[in-house]
Amino acid sequence: MSKILCPYCRQEIEDTDKVCPFCTTKLQNNDYKTLLIPMGFGLYILWFIANIIGFVILNHWPQIMTTKDKDGDLIFSLVEYTQICLQPLVVVFVPYIIALVKKYKVKEATAGISICIIFAVIFVIYFIHLQKVAGV
Ligand SMILES: [Zn+2]
Repeated sequence: MSKILCPYCRQEIEDTDKVCPFCTTKLQNNDYKTLLIPMGFGLYILWFIANIIGFVILNHWPQIMTTKDKDGDLIFSLVEYTQICLQPLVVVFVPYIIALVKKYKVKEATAGISICIIFAVIFVIYFIHLQKVAGV
């Protein structure tokens, strides 16, 4: 919890207050802000689980990685995996970036983005490792 100023009476209040305890004004603007970090976290968990499921599939059917199209190009290449892995990250970042722009829970939002990037790099490295094991 952090302190903010009530936009109506300029008194210091909690950022989670739904009603200003000083002037009793309803603070509806606060509602969506408090959702930003949990939303980013929820999207991140979905992205994380989707990646884990992807890796379980690749582990069980490594032939997906060695399958080539009629031109002899890999059907599931590193470029394609990176796109599939990294494009949804843009969606995960949206609530965090809004939080950063609004200067709301900057630490949590920065941590969220950092963790996403670290895991994206780990996933890509693991994909390269799986490709090597599959003999690509
Ligand atoms: Zn107030």
